[in-house]
Amino acid sequence: MDCTKCDREAVMHAAYSGTYLCEAHLFESVERRVRHRVREDDMLPADATPEDPETWVIGLSGGKDSVVLTDIIHETFEEDPRVELVALTIHEGIEGYRDASLDACEELADDRDIPHEVVTYSEEFDVQMDDVAEDDPLDMAPCAYCGVFRRDALARYAEELDADKLLTGHNLDDEAETALMNIFEGNVEQVAKHFDASLGPFDERREKEDMIPRAKPLRDVPEKEVALYAQLRELPVHMAECPHSSEAFRGEIQDLLLSLEEDHPGTRHSIMAGYEELASLAADEYGGDEDEQPVGSCEECGAPTARDRCRKCALLDAVNAV
Ligand code: SF4
Ligand code: ZN
Repeated sequence: MDCTKCDREAVMHAAYSGTYLCEAHLFESVERRVRHRVREDDMLPADATPEDPETWVIGLSGGKDSVVLTDIIHETFEEDPRVELVALTIHEGIEGYRDASLDACEELADDRDIPHEVVTYSEEFDVQMDDVAEDDPLDMAPCAYCGVFRRDALARYAEELDADKLLTGHNLDDEAETALMNIFEGNVEQVAKHFDASLGPFDERREKEDMIPRAKPLRDVPEKEVALYAQLRELPVHMAECPHSSEAFRGEIQDLLLSLEEDHPGTRHSIMAGYEELASLAADEYGGDEDEQPVGSCEECGAPTARDRCRKCALLDAVNAV
């Protein structure tokens, strides 16, 4: 089959748009959607200048999504003195898995000359995910600990690196899965939180959440296209799956979405369009103002929390009590 835009051979078919794309037009299309999202979300404020640039910290795991995001953002802003990039890798202490992906991160960062920071759970929290997964003191999925530790480490280092934004490589499938999970769990407050944490306007979020806003410039691009982009561009990517990966519910939602998308192309896009609107309403409803929901700081580590101690410190206590 030929590319819809030229007469070269197509490397992919996007059923949701009815197009066939050759390699060059796939590259162009993925990059265009990322740049469009950067503009659409007003990621680069008008007052950023070469003297007072924006610092964007990119969470770089070495997986295809964060590698593609880092590469495209770097390529886009390489010559723009209003943006400074720093790549940040979290090492969870998962043997055989994270070491290999760290190599991919280093290769990319070295090659593109992007400053690269590595934070380890062992230095930060004195734990290794391999041990946490084995001991599992609270009888939860390993990801339930790991996600809390990662969020804490990312937020802390983004703050330390003086970040204006923290960029993560969530793709369209990830976002549509999270949207459906929140809705199926009937958790409107979680929907509101998702909006505040990563979807709403940046300046409002910064004020409301008092934390570095997340940006997800890859969230319009389906996972398959990200993977193909990484492969055809020959980017250094670590493909293995984490041995502790255990999000059973997400797996079910993933299967459901894939079959829906196959029968009704465009489902992921329409889920996200509706969800963002819904989430914005939920955020208005649940956000309240600061008087109603005082956010204090953890008595142990100082992280923002509505409780005496933050979730991460509570988990660490449980892990260390073993
Ligand atoms: Fe951590 Fe789970 Fe991701 Fe593995 S799959 S790195 S345990 S969050
Ligand atoms: Zn704490």
